[in-house]
Amino acid sequence: MRTCRTCLQEQPLTEYKTAHKICKTCGFIRNMVSQAKYRSKKFDIPFDLYPEDLFIPSHCPLLGIPIEIRSGSRDSTPSLDRIAPDLGYVRGNCWIISSLANTAKNNLTLEQFSIIAENWKFNEAHGYSKKLHKEHPHFQKISQVNEGQ
Ligand SMILES: [Zn+2]
Repeated sequence: MRTCRTCLQEQPLTEYKTAHKICKTCGFIRNMVSQAKYRSKKFDIPFDLYPEDLFIPSHCPLLGIPIEIRSGSRDSTPSLDRIAPDLGYVRGNCWIISSLANTAKNNLTLEQFSIIAENWKFNEAHGYSKKLHKEHPHFQKISQVNEGQ
């Protein structure tokens, strides 16, 4: 057993990289923060974040899927998310969600995300995913515009 210098929890040696005094979980968070710092410099995003501001939840707060550092699936690995992208990597605006949820969010606003979800549901409800595209009302609008030209 070894006590992590960061989270101060006593953990088995398997939770540490050889000779490391910080556990793998704390190391993972540190890495995420330093990568965020790099991105914020590169893209001129506000940055004021410390590893102590973050924790890895057992489940993704957006999707509910388990979050695992060492899993076979990339989707369930922890990913640092800016709640309001414009506010940047600052304390209180960052949390850890699943990579799958973060990839899906990407640069969308909540409104844009909701529009996608509504249209997706509409398509499913009307079976457009199984029909020809030209039956979709949106496609008809486009073809009407084209015919008018
Ligand atoms: Zn730790």
